[in-house]
Amino acid sequence: MPVALIIGASRGIGRELAMQYKAAGWRVIATARKEEDLASLKSVDCEPLQLDVTKLSDCAGLGERLDGEKIDVAILNAGVFGPRTEGLTAPDLQHFDAVMHTNVLSAMRILPIVLPLVENAHGRLAVISSSMASISERSNPAGWLYRASKTALNSVLKDVSLSTDKAICVAMDPGWVKTDMGGDSAEITVDVSVAGIRQTLAALKPADNGKYLQYTGTEHGW
Ligand code: NDP
Repeated sequence: MPVALIIGASRGIGRELAMQYKAAGWRVIATARKEEDLASLKSVDCEPLQLDVTKLSDCAGLGERLDGEKIDVAILNAGVFGPRTEGLTAPDLQHFDAVMHTNVLSAMRILPIVLPLVENAHGRLAVISSSMASISERSNPAGWLYRASKTALNSVLKDVSLSTDKAICVAMDPGWVKTDMGGDSAEITVDVSVAGIRQTLAALKPADNGKYLQYTGTEHGW
């Protein structure tokens, strides 16, 4: 039975990823930081793991808890948007630290732990990035801090991809999705986004290692 690891599966895109892999017959290891979310994941036959991606001890413990696992698909989904400021408004240090910690530093801690488990299965490792990460396709500075954090996340993913030839690592833009973060005006529903992410990951070839892709499978400009 193939194994999926979904990091940040309490709600939104992460929860739907866990549900769709489960429905497709996969064994799903799903992380959340709150007790009630762990219980909810267990009730749908996922294997819950408590993980706050900003807690160093949680991140360090992840490798021990998953020691020896072969992970076919690992997806680092947990992320925050931060303050919704307009234009070139500098974030305060507290917001900067919180967004960069969750979206970037956590990836630098977690991806090196998860990569060997994915390599065990010659599997796929994805970070959930954003179209807002793209510098070459950028047309306005809205979401300045979030954009910078997702661009940095893409850089982290690229370096992880360069360190392996036993796994396929990609940065994945999920589209603009109706979730707590994406809001009600978003373009697509969470089930459409996640179906596209799963299909795109399933179709990856070794030559795709290090790519930045939309949920439709189309490549983004960095
Ligand atoms: P939501 O705000 O609905 O969900 C965010 C998820 O991240 C929750 O599961 C949340 O857990 C988790 N999370 C946040 N901080 C932490 C933490 N410190 N430790 C563990 N988990 C954490 O957002 P979406 O589902 O929309 O977004 C999922 C990903 O997709 C994010 O990385 C986001 O940046 C990205 N994305 C979303 C887009 C959209 O349009 N929705 C567009 C482009 C990218 P908890 O419930 O405990 O807070």
